[in-house]
Amino acid sequence: MPRLGDALKAGIKGFVNASKPGEYSAGGIKVTCPHCGNAVFKMQGPFSFQMWEGGAAYIKASLTCLTCGLIQWFGEEPEKLKTYG
Ligand SMILES: [Zn+2]
Repeated sequence: MPRLGDALKAGIKGFVNASKPGEYSAGGIKVTCPHCGNAVFKMQGPFSFQMWEGGAAYIKASLTCLTCGLIQWFGEEPEKLKTYG
């Protein structure tokens, strides 16, 4: 059984890695920027938005292209393939 300290360290390392830029896969396909073709993104989220008609839209994650800044939204969190930085 893993010790609590080890689990906390792994959790903190996972959190730090999640905030670093990287390459991602969604639906089994590597994510690329449709504008510039770059493959390195910064992930943020989740977000929820109030809709005009009263419902809420729930976005699990956004990927911001590090080259051109285009933001893509995902309803399922993309899988991180590689971490940079
Ligand atoms: Zn781009």
